[in-house]
Amino acid sequence: RMARKFFVGGNWKCNGRTEEVKKIVATLNEGLVPASDIVDVVVSPPFVFLPLVKSLLRSDFHVAAQNCWVKKGGAYTGEVSAEMLVDLEIPWVILGHSERRLLLNESKEFVGDKVAYALSKGLKVIACVGETLEQRESGSTLDIVAAQTKAIADRVSDWTNIVIAYEPVWAIGTGKVATPVQAQEVHAELREWLKVNTSPEVAATVRIIYGGSVNGANSKELAAQPDVDGFLVGGASLKPEFIDIINSAT
Ligand code: PEP
Repeated sequence: RMARKFFVGGNWKCNGRTEEVKKIVATLNEGLVPASDIVDVVVSPPFVFLPLVKSLLRSDFHVAAQNCWVKKGGAYTGEVSAEMLVDLEIPWVILGHSERRLLLNESKEFVGDKVAYALSKGLKVIACVGETLEQRESGSTLDIVAAQTKAIADRVSDWTNIVIAYEPVWAIGTGKVATPVQAQEVHAELREWLKVNTSPEVAATVRIIYGGSVNGANSKELAAQPDVDGFLVGGASLKPEFIDIINSAT
């Protein structure tokens, strides 16, 4: 992992009100963590709290939106465009989260289009991929993850500003974390897929982070895996243990 800086993202999902948001940020601001040359920390509040969080958050942590529109803004009621995020100096966006793929029927092609458009506007992207339990049990985990990644690779040539989050759906919000061996296996296979289908350089440098029931008690062992370059954290990112997860970088 030497060449790849550890990355910890906190996905707050659709949670929080102003007072709680301020408390979470205050806790983050007090946390003792490695310097920003050792770990990238990015927290992702709901859209409406992005300006508040950005204004209060310590300068070594950054913010991400949880989604953005697939093309230039306009007559798309309820959507938020990549241009708006750029205007507000929001550097990162999470795209393709399984909750959006499954609950809002976002197809892999649509997610690929979003990733390409967001990158073209200068955003950095946390692109989520992952299989359902049914898909894992039928033995198609790599096929699914590769197909989701291919939909991005078909539309993107420069991977510099992409972090891939491998998030098995059965592990998200379930308390059923992948074992370090399970995570490492998929990360290594996905990296091999990237080597063959993008380039050896992309495969060696793209960060592949794990998400799904990561907490302060299981992050250290997962982080010790050679192809686990960090985490995308849901539930535990709202709690003080997020600091412990960041500290599994070292
Ligand atoms: C997520 O939402 O990306 C996630 C990994 O959630 P949790 O950590 O709660 O499983």
